[in-house]
Amino acid sequence: MNHSKHGAGESCCEDSHGDKALFLQQALAQVLQAIEPVSGSEILDIRDALGRVLAENVTSPVDVPAHTNSAMDGYAVAGSDLPTAGERSLSVVGTAWAGRPLQVRVEAGQCARIMTGAVMPAGTDTVVMQEHVQRLEDSIVVDSRHRAGQHVRPAGEDISAGSVGVRRGTVIHPAQLGVLASLGVATVPVRRRPTVAFFSTGDELRGVGEKLEEGQIYDSNRYTLYGVLTRLGMQVIDLGVVPDDPGVLESVLKDASQRADAIVTTGGVSVGEADFVTQVLEQVGQVNFWKVAMKPGRPFAFGRIGGAWFFGLPGNPVSVMTTFYQLVQPALLAMTGAAVDDPVILLRVRCTHGLKKKTGRREFQRGILRRDEQGEYTVTGTGQQGAGILSSMADANCFIVLEENQGSLETGDFVSVQPFRGLV
Ligand code: AMP
Ligand code: MG
Repeated sequence: MNHSKHGAGESCCEDSHGDKALFLQQALAQVLQAIEPVSGSEILDIRDALGRVLAENVTSPVDVPAHTNSAMDGYAVAGSDLPTAGERSLSVVGTAWAGRPLQVRVEAGQCARIMTGAVMPAGTDTVVMQEHVQRLEDSIVVDSRHRAGQHVRPAGEDISAGSVGVRRGTVIHPAQLGVLASLGVATVPVRRRPTVAFFSTGDELRGVGEKLEEGQIYDSNRYTLYGVLTRLGMQVIDLGVVPDDPGVLESVLKDASQRADAIVTTGGVSVGEADFVTQVLEQVGQVNFWKVAMKPGRPFAFGRIGGAWFFGLPGNPVSVMTTFYQLVQPALLAMTGAAVDDPVILLRVRCTHGLKKKTGRREFQRGILRRDEQGEYTVTGTGQQGAGILSSMADANCFIVLEENQGSLETGDFVSVQPFRGLV
């Protein structure tokens, strides 16, 4: 990977004064190509491994299920005893319970009462549901509608001993916890969580609880970043607010690069006279500065300082969240070592109003996705769509994704939406 300023290959990558912008897909591809998973792992109890990434394949020490067993409550019989026409009477020689196998062999002309999960008794290979037999005192009457081998779960049909139960790179969700438990595995090796240091830049920023002087605003980006990073399972280091001062920026960035696998900053990446982030980065590390053809969130810096990846997000609060979800989140997930290739979920739904849109860039308007009584989905914008209107993110439950070649839309036209569920 080439981390140099102009190392973007065939995609355009102008410096901060160029006019060309990189398509979001190209920017994302370059980021993902560069990123490697963090090294290091630890052994955890399986419950503590929830949400973590499995570091090694877990091979099953046992067959799951461990024994060939009944899938139904009923009677265990030999398939060869089933009548092909008419009815047949079989004598009941005992009961097989889940956890308490029947100790006697079932001979021709016999059967055993059996419960779901009980080991199939010797001499049997078929279960007839209790609802399908006529039960007499010590026998049952079976008719000809049954198939040999039915309602039996073979040993190892789920996972066989010696095969991989859960693969390396799998994110441990509730289903994987259950599978690990079904193997009898108590602890698993998981990858180390990436450590992400983050800070806001801007002389105007104050923390919650402080009093605002004229021209000052509260720092909201550090809170949204804390939220998204924590939800992603990152280990976070909050480095506070850094003033628009190249010297201070430099020392904070150097310090962060020694403590974190990734650094995320907001603000100071535009071309204003107080925007020092890219300039300082060029001194202390390697940087690709991009204008990404997306709205909100045009300026975006990606690079490396020492051992840490660097993501410089714009300052406007909605730009921060949009660039985070579209560019940084996939990168941080790649750093976890998760082998996830779930597709991005986009739905095509009708928009309840017209939308203004310039071609040539991808827009992420904030929308409310609804499902009406007929089961039809529609989307409605949240109102004002400025990059500083953070309440538009709070009110929304989806992005309305308007692709690069999409122009303005009329009421009732179909648009793509990316639901927040599963994303945020
Ligand atoms: P910048 O990219 O630094 O020029 O900032 C763009 C806009 O976002 C300015 O109006 C900033 O005041 C605002 N902004 C920057 N950082 C934050 C922050 N941490 N919280 C809220 N607003 C911010
Ligand atoms: Mg600023």
